[in-house]
Amino acid sequence: MPVLTVVVPAFNESEGLREFHRRLTSVLDGMTDLDCAVLYVDDGSRDDTWAIMCALREGDPRVATLRLARNFGKELALTAGLDHVTEGGAVVIDADLQDPPELIPDFVAHWRDGFDVIYGTRATRAGESGLKKLTASGFYRIMERLSTTPIPRDTGDFRLLSRRVLDALGQVRERQRFMKGLFTWVGFRQLSVVYHRDPRHAGQTKWNYWKLWNFAIDGITSFSGVPLKLATYVGLLTALGAFLAALWVFGKALLFGDPVRGYPSLMVVVLFLGGMQLMALGVIGEYLGRLYVEAKQRPLYLVDQYAPPQRNVQGKA
Ligand code: UDP
Ligand code: MG
Repeated sequence: MPVLTVVVPAFNESEGLREFHRRLTSVLDGMTDLDCAVLYVDDGSRDDTWAIMCALREGDPRVATLRLARNFGKELALTAGLDHVTEGGAVVIDADLQDPPELIPDFVAHWRDGFDVIYGTRATRAGESGLKKLTASGFYRIMERLSTTPIPRDTGDFRLLSRRVLDALGQVRERQRFMKGLFTWVGFRQLSVVYHRDPRHAGQTKWNYWKLWNFAIDGITSFSGVPLKLATYVGLLTALGAFLAALWVFGKALLFGDPVRGYPSLMVVVLFLGGMQLMALGVIGEYLGRLYVEAKQRPLYLVDQYAPPQRNVQGKA
């Protein structure tokens, strides 16, 4: 029987985890022709998420638990989870029931048809503010233009990954991980399934706009060098403008003499150029900083505890 592991990263999700498990298991119970397992990854939660995970494992032989040494962030929690899936495919799903587990059988059907990555594309996002939707859609559109890997619009991490995709991801060890991008980067046969995103079942989102902004910069710098090129072209354009302005100033001085004036224009030019230079340096800094993190070669994450499913996934006990 094919093996499928559902990987669930969770950070302070104690409020909704039991309800999540209830809905997930009722879906898994329906898929009798699959050997299912659930891997809960506790990303250094500070509430009793871990205790609940352990309790769920006691009550359900399909459940495995993995606890990271501290909060490493969702991308790394996800990586840790996927690294522990050594057999068969995996489904990635959020613990807050924003991604409906009921969609998993659809994913599985396409997986059986031979697709490698089946991802959920959000047709709607219920329970999220207008600003969040606007910034999210703006981000996906900018990404689309900048990235060398086309990252599908309005698509989160909710997806099914086949064995060869998991093996491919296992080889990608970059530290600045933008999983949505990496999932697409691997290629193979990909398919989108449209769904309606529900509001969070319980608890609160772990993201604020500052985090999202940084996440967006991570995404762009990981998958595009365009900002670096942009600095070059903005510099070229400014130089061209400066050349024209110089001609004009010079011509005027020749024709009408040169009374000492022009302090305001001088100031404007100096400040403008200074600002441009700082900005270009900042862009270089963003890339350099990431290079620095990469160069340190630290492990991506550290595992505190791992408990496999009580029943071997193949049912051998
Ligand atoms: N999450 C995580 N580590 C973090 C932040 C979030 O594992 O540092 C998990 C979280 O528990 C949830 C999923 O990632 O299962 C998505 O997080 P959230 O719902 O806060 O993000 P949103 O849906 O608002 O984008
Ligand atoms: Mg959420």
